[in-house]
Amino acid sequence: MIRFIDVYKEYDNGTKALKGVNMRIDDGEFVFLVGPSGSGKSTIIKLITGEIALTQGKLMVNGYSMSNISPKQVPLMRRTLGIIFQDFRLIEKKTVYENLSFAMRAIGASSRDLKRRIPYVLQLVGLEQKADRYPGQLSGGEQQRVAIARALVNNPNMIIADEPTGNLDPNRSLEIMMLLERINELGTTVLVVTHEKNLVNRFGKRVVAIEDGRIINDETGGYYNGEK
Ligand code: ADP
Ligand code: ADP
Repeated sequence: MIRFIDVYKEYDNGTKALKGVNMRIDDGEFVFLVGPSGSGKSTIIKLITGEIALTQGKLMVNGYSMSNISPKQVPLMRRTLGIIFQDFRLIEKKTVYENLSFAMRAIGASSRDLKRRIPYVLQLVGLEQKADRYPGQLSGGEQQRVAIARALVNNPNMIIADEPTGNLDPNRSLEIMMLLERINELGTTVLVVTHEKNLVNRFGKRVVAIEDGRIINDETGGYYNGEK
């Protein structure tokens, strides 16, 4: 569960990026976070991942209080999250399989765990035939599916996708959103930051809209900018 209680974020240069954000995301939810450029979406994501610290308020991330989390707990908190970026961020010199095994080894998984888990997630994202490819040998849509598999491989509580379709054409974008929806149906909480009105409006999920550091709308079956 994610809980923002009256969260303020002011950057060192004095920019007030969040001005009293209250938001709760329960386990199992699918949430779109939308808003214009500069409205505070990335700030929200970076606070959740612990990349930046909040200025004021309280933030709970899967049981960890982000205002007094100890450095030792940060890696444990991060394991509860799987993160996907617009630019995929795969390791180019590793195959699909190796990108996933590397992520699992990093948290101390055994060979037995790898052999069981990697084929399962590759099949889930539809890439079981491409385990031995390098990222450069895959299309953009396929690379994003590898990134999703990697985000899932350590069985996180929640997937956070930051503009996951920003580099994809509309058909590939729809496929990626449908895959995230499927992953949500299998029990993982999903938070998607996106600009894509058509996609958001098509799915009829909860939409949290942010503008100028404040949440201006939060509705299930909501529309981006009130537009259909
Ligand atoms: P979005 O992701 O919605 O585009 P951001 O969270 O990146 O918005 O930015 C919110 C505000 O904070 C903007 O005014 C932006 O310029 C500012 N901002 C973001 N990162 C920094 C930073 N590291 N230092 C100073 N200001 C920042
Ligand atoms: P998508 O339908 O996911 O956009 P493409 O039409 O771009 O995929 O690619 C079709 C197939 O060609 C994919 O299976 C992909 O693995 C393969 N492919 C795409 N680009 C390359 C490449 N640079 N090298 C090798 N195989 C590629």
